[in-house]
Amino acid sequence: MIKYADLIEEHIEELAALDAIDAGKLFSQGKAVDIPTVANLIRYYAGAADKIHGETLKMSRELQGYTLREPIGVAGHIIPWNFPSSMFFMMSAPALAAGCTVIVKPAEQTPLSALFYADLANKAGVPAGVLNVITGFGPTAGAAIASHMDVDKVCFTGSTEVGRKIMQAAATSNLKQVSLELGGKSPLLIFDDADVDKAADLALLAVLYNKGEICVAGSRVFVQAGIYDEFVKKLKEKAKDWVVGDPFDPRSRLGPQVDKQQFDKILSYIEHGKREGATLLTGGKPIGKTGYFIEPTVFTDVKEEMMIATDEIFGPVMSLMKFETIEEAIKKANNTKYGLAAGIVTQNLDVANTVSRSIRAGTIWINCYFGFDQDCSYGGYKMSGFGRHLGLEALHKYLQVKSVVTPIYNSPW
Ligand code: ADP
Repeated sequence: MIKYADLIEEHIEELAALDAIDAGKLFSQGKAVDIPTVANLIRYYAGAADKIHGETLKMSRELQGYTLREPIGVAGHIIPWNFPSSMFFMMSAPALAAGCTVIVKPAEQTPLSALFYADLANKAGVPAGVLNVITGFGPTAGAAIASHMDVDKVCFTGSTEVGRKIMQAAATSNLKQVSLELGGKSPLLIFDDADVDKAADLALLAVLYNKGEICVAGSRVFVQAGIYDEFVKKLKEKAKDWVVGDPFDPRSRLGPQVDKQQFDKILSYIEHGKREGATLLTGGKPIGKTGYFIEPTVFTDVKEEMMIATDEIFGPVMSLMKFETIEEAIKKANNTKYGLAAGIVTQNLDVANTVSRSIRAGTIWINCYFGFDQDCSYGGYKMSGFGRHLGLEALHKYLQVKSVVTPIYNSPW
């Protein structure tokens, strides 16, 4: 695995370029963040591979008992198109470290880096058959993994709708274990004591990073009444700094959306927002005649029940709402079927503690957003799924516990 990580690092530019071509992701970000992170992630789990252990049990009778942690077997990974490299290894690195064999099905929009990773696995000496990549469409290749009798675990990241299908297929085939990381509509709560300038920057980052194609996007922003007007002013000015353009141009901060389907879906949500009576503060239109470029878009006067406040748009669209009290902020933040992440901006420790314990989401970022780390697991509450990526939690997902029991003294049988 360490050799594999080294080889990936030697090919950072090619891999970042493949993800830029396939997904419209920024080449500079791939080079500086996505691909180096992948190499480090593989090293992190390689380090854990020889530290897997069970427990010696006390036992209530005169028995000696201990547990073994064994690999679960064949792991099927169905991955999305928004983070083709990170998702490949958030699943495959812990699976390999646990001793599983892996089948990866990349999203049909973004198969190129996955094929490159398969080739590098061969070069690194990963034995044939251990890490397999199968390209194909969801309802055929993806469904075949989810319903296969010899696949022991399926790990899926994608839409809630497809997540349901994966669970159904697992249930009606061999009851394989399932981990799902699904949609989100994560809240970012900004309190009166925040530095308004920094908070506006953070809010834009939270919804525009990777052109909003990120499951933890902070797409619902709640701002306390005392700073609301100033915040709105700042947001409007700062949104202009988010240059949309060619993912290979270092000046671009957003590339194009992944494909026409997503592009059309996002624009139709924007139209819906306008029809429902939200105010378009900035953006709202496609850019140019070719490519799926969309302006960074911010809606104000959003009501909780509007579709732009309830549905995952998966694009550069922020819904801004106002709140008065901490109780109201918590209630509004939790008013969603999803529970992937949340952000809190405040200097007040009591507020930060109270809110972080009151929001039903798998990750809470205080005075930051996207505070990802290989050591820190993330995943969903509620309809955002279950099972965790990253950290040792992700390693344990690929291990199962076997109990071994023997009498301590001569047994009568
Ligand atoms: P999105 O809606 O964000 O495009 P999807 O959930 O449709 O994402 O796709 C995520 C992954 O799930 C892709 O690899 C896709 O091919 C796969 N997929 C789509 N439909 C199915 C299905 N019925 N069974 C298994 N996998 C599927």
